[in-house]
Amino acid sequence: MEIALVGIGKIAVDQHVPAIADSADWELAATVSRHGSVEGVPAYTDFGRMLEERPDIRVVSLCLPPVPRFDYAKQAIMAGRHVMLEKPPGATLSECHALEALARKQGVSLYATWHSRQADKVPTAKAWLAKKTLRRLTITWREDVRQWHPGQDWVFEAGGLGVFDPGINALSILTEILPVPVHLTGADLHFPENRETPIAAICRFYHPGGAEVSMDLDWLEPGAPTWTIAIETDQGTMLLENGGGKLMMDGKADDSLPGLAGEYPRLYAELAKLVSGGRIDMDLAPLRHVADAFLLGRRLTAPAFEW
Ligand code: NAP
Repeated sequence: MEIALVGIGKIAVDQHVPAIADSADWELAATVSRHGSVEGVPAYTDFGRMLEERPDIRVVSLCLPPVPRFDYAKQAIMAGRHVMLEKPPGATLSECHALEALARKQGVSLYATWHSRQADKVPTAKAWLAKKTLRRLTITWREDVRQWHPGQDWVFEAGGLGVFDPGINALSILTEILPVPVHLTGADLHFPENRETPIAAICRFYHPGGAEVSMDLDWLEPGAPTWTIAIETDQGTMLLENGGGKLMMDGKADDSLPGLAGEYPRLYAELAKLVSGGRIDMDLAPLRHVADAFLLGRRLTAPAFEW
């Protein structure tokens, strides 16, 4: 099926273009971007023009940062196209609800993707945890923003989420693997004195079974990233590392191999199923926790940040 990719920047080039190229379900039929393009693919700079000139393209994948994404998503849905959204699905919960309502009205599919949920070991981690009593869960998500978002000022502008841009990946795994929902009870948010979003955060969560659940986010970690969820239960321990790519259960590595390889190939396989079934997948749980952190978090001032 023909698909258009919108916002040809870091994630489009790193992940979306190769995943579409390797997929039997999809053909990259157009790009829309003010500066970016993909060799051999018709390139548009105006979204409305692409929608008008290419009625053959029924599906649009939006890889823009969250703040500008709503206008594009709304336009695509109004034009009867199915839409895939990069994470986070929007800059606010309300605009995500509005998109879902619009998609239902227009009868099109809408997919809020969470790429980290497609990491190799997430399904095994979820199954392992399903029948155990949680005692402690500690998320440690530390990386170097200069390595992962080089020069991307939007991450430090209001709506760009700051350190919650990677942190929401951890929350997407948390909300997938936990058998019961948690909710945020407090957060310390460290805002660089010259920026609009936090560069580090500590979050604490209420768990209905009384387990200790916490999250430590830092965007100034030098060297290799730490993307880890450590879990203690009444029946042993689990360590999910590499953003869900590596799993230790009671100190033993899980070496089972999943079928289709890669987070983005799985997202596009899921999109094909959603579109053919005319379904909507708009789980906003990870974004809700981030919104709660901004609602309830204490604002602390950190040193100025420059690239
Ligand atoms: P990016 O490279 O900064 O932006 C993607 C493209 O969006 C830009 O190249 C730009 O293309 C277009 N764009 C930016 N601002 C725009 C605006 N105001 N209006 C219209 N178009 C605009 O960002 P990214 O790293 O690819 O991230 C995009 C999304 O993917 C984010 O939601 C992010 O959380 C998610 N994501 C990123 C990563 C990562 O490793 N970076 C990983 C997973 C998910 P033109 O200038 O050509 O229009």
